[in-house]
Amino acid sequence: MTALNFDDCIGCGLCILGCPAFEETGFDVLTARGRNKALQAGLAAGDMVEPIWACTLCGYCDAICPTRVHNVEIVLHLRRELVEVGLMLDAAGDTPEVRLKPDSTRDAVAGSALASWAASGFSGTAPSSVGSGFSRTVLAPPPPRPALVLGCTIRERAPHLIPSIKEFLNRIGRATDLCEEGCCGSFEVEAGRAMPAHSSAGVVSDPICLEQYDAEFLGVLAMQHLDLFELKPPFYYFAPHRLVNRDHARIYPLYDALRRRFGCDTNLDLNRLARSTSAGSVQGMTGRDARDIGAAVARLLTHSRAERIVTCSPADYLAFRTYSGRETLFITECLR
Ligand code: SF4
Ligand code: SF4
Repeated sequence: MTALNFDDCIGCGLCILGCPAFEETGFDVLTARGRNKALQAGLAAGDMVEPIWACTLCGYCDAICPTRVHNVEIVLHLRRELVEVGLMLDAAGDTPEVRLKPDSTRDAVAGSALASWAASGFSGTAPSSVGSGFSRTVLAPPPPRPALVLGCTIRERAPHLIPSIKEFLNRIGRATDLCEEGCCGSFEVEAGRAMPAHSSAGVVSDPICLEQYDAEFLGVLAMQHLDLFELKPPFYYFAPHRLVNRDHARIYPLYDALRRRFGCDTNLDLNRLARSTSAGSVQGMTGRDARDIGAAVARLLTHSRAERIVTCSPADYLAFRTYSGRETLFITECLR
């Protein structure tokens, strides 16, 4: 696990610039700086319930922090502490029941005799299942790697996108067999009720699911095949903020190339970082801690005269469609 290095926070305040919790409320105490200063002063998770649940995990603060404080990791850790003592997110009762992705392989190995043997540096007598000899050891085949993970937002709230997603993947020669599992469990991770699962997959259609899968992201593949799309300016492209913020050296150039080619507006600004709508977070749900997504959409579009919105993020697609008053398209709906 990444170090909980809140002591490295120097209080510069750079992280406040694009923090959606600050944009909406104006409260410094709800930002990464506020939490880190509280932790440095010796406050415990139970003393800072609101600051912990106010974070949308957009990752902006991690990307801009000059001392590399792992703010998202710190928030997830604090949330798990809160959940342990029953201080759940207020919206939890309103969220759809989400099932933690089963990770039976990991669970079976952890705590097994084999794991203990490995932890001892492989010294002493090997557990019988290991020492029984190759001729009698039957290795279970690895679970099949799902080709396409849609994510529950598309499955439940925007299933009309599925044919165009499959059409795009067919055109670039990718398999489209659907992963039959339900929710990937990333909201459980965000809500402090689970650890990430990290299964392997082909392509995922929702950046939120990348919390749980090692896979390629549909939106990034789309950026690598721009000739397949009909994108007429003026449009506003909402890039997947968490991906850009988490790995902006790799992801930013792809979306910047789109911006240069079409002259479109985007949510990428402020030192190459991506602003969020909060729609893909647990605070995108209803409840006391719900975020004002309509206000966030209005802020993002303040200076844009784009006639339509295009995005590769399912939750943001729904947010712009609901609140922008402008035509809103998922990237695969723009196939030529
Ligand atoms: S950018 Fe980093 S060092 Fe500066 S206040 Fe935020 S967390 Fe602290
Ligand atoms: S992850 Fe986003 S919402 Fe959370 S503190 Fe950082 S900038 Fe603010």
